[in-house]
Amino acid sequence: MTKYTVNERGYYGNFGGAFIPEMLYPNVEELRQNYLSIMNDPGFQAEFRRLLKDYVGRPTPLFLAERLSEKYGTQVYLKREDLNHTGAHKVNNTLGQILLAGRLGKKKIVAETGAGQHGVATATMCALKGLECIVYMGEVDIERQAPNVARMKMLGAEVRAARSGSRTLKDATNEAMRHWINNPVDTHYIIGSVVGPHPYPDMVARFQSVISEEIRTQLKEQTGSETPDYVVACVGGGSNAAGVFYHFLDDEPVKIVAAEAAGLGVKSGKSAATTFLGKPGILHGSKSLLMQTDDGQVVEPHSVSAGLDYPGIGPLHAHLWETGRAKFMAITDEEAMQAGFELARLEGIIPAIESSHALAALAYLHADPSEKVVIGLSGRGDKDLATYMKWMG
Ligand SMILES: *Cc1c(COP(=O)(O)O)cnc(C)c1O
Repeated sequence: MTKYTVNERGYYGNFGGAFIPEMLYPNVEELRQNYLSIMNDPGFQAEFRRLLKDYVGRPTPLFLAERLSEKYGTQVYLKREDLNHTGAHKVNNTLGQILLAGRLGKKKIVAETGAGQHGVATATMCALKGLECIVYMGEVDIERQAPNVARMKMLGAEVRAARSGSRTLKDATNEAMRHWINNPVDTHYIIGSVVGPHPYPDMVARFQSVISEEIRTQLKEQTGSETPDYVVACVGGGSNAAGVFYHFLDDEPVKIVAAEAAGLGVKSGKSAATTFLGKPGILHGSKSLLMQTDDGQVVEPHSVSAGLDYPGIGPLHAHLWETGRAKFMAITDEEAMQAGFELARLEGIIPAIESSHALAALAYLHADPSEKVVIGLSGRGDKDLATYMKWMG
C-alpha cells in the first residue's frame, strides 16, 4: 500500500468510501469481500490476460510520434488505446468485470452509459460470455448517440431509457443502481469508470492499470528506461487516466498531468472542469470533488466530448489533486478540437475528442527536447466525425 492507493476503508486520503442506501449494502459488501481474492487468483489472471491479448488486441502499441515531437520540441509517445477492440480503453475494465461477475455466479449484467461507449463495451462482453445485458441510458443521450444504441441492440443488449432529471448520464446511473437494488442476487453492476462506492474505484483502476504496466515495459524496450518525464491523460470519471498513471504514482520524479474539459471556458457556466469548479460532496456512492450549487444540487456539466461531460471525478483523482501529486489543466472545447485536427494531419491518427483534450495539454507543458512525454490516446475518433466536421464548418 502506498500514499496513493486505497486504504481498507476505501479511502484515498479524504475521498472515497461507500455512501450507499441500506438496500445496496449486501451487493457492494459481497463485491468488497471478494474482488481482491478473485483478481489475484492465477486462473482468473490467466483468463483475463488471454482475452486481453487474443480478443481485445493487447498490448496496444506505444508509438513515438515524430512529427508531433518535432512541433512541440520534445519526445512524444502515444499509448494507443484507440486500437483496442471497440475502440477505447473501456473494454479493459468491462472484460475484467465480466470475468469477475462469472466468478461470483452472476448471470445478468446491468450498466449505465452516457455517450454509449461503456454500454457498447459491456454489451460486447456480455455477447462474448452469453450473459443477459441491460443498459440504462438517458433519453436525451439515446437520441444524440443513435449509432451506439444500434450497436448495443445488435450485440443483444436491452437499452432502457432513463426519463428522470436531465435525462442524461447521472440519471442513467441512478436508474442502474435502482435496478441493482431490486435484483441483488443474480445481477452484477458494471460501473464504467473509477467512480462509485468502494471497491469500484480501486477495482476499475486495477483493471485499467494494464495500460501503465505495458508503458513501462515498452519504454524500457524503446529507450532503455522504464519511466518518462511526464504522463498525460484526459479525465472524465478518470479510468483511462488511472490506468495511465497507476504504475507511476510512486515514481515522484514522473510528472502527472490530468486534462479536464473546460467546455466553453472554466468561468463560462458551460464547463466540466471539476477540480477548478467542484467542491467536496457525495455523488454516486463516494465522496469526491463535484460541481454543485451552494445547497448541494449537482450542476449540469458541459463538454463537446460526451465522455468528459460528467460533474465529478473519481476519488483517486480528487486525492491526486489535493496532494498536488497530479497537475490538473482545463482544456477548452476549441483547444481540444484543434489538437484533434493536428494529430490527424501530423500523424494520420483521428483521436476521440476526449483524447484530444490530453493532446492539447502538450502546448502547456513546455517540455525539453531531452524529455519524454507519454500521452494516453484513450480512444479513436470515428464516433466523433460528425462533431469534427461541424467544427470545420
Ligand atoms: C469514456 C471515455 C473517456 C472518459 O472516461 P474516463 O473514465 O475518464 O477514462 C475518455 N476517452 C474515451 C475515448 C472514452 O470513451
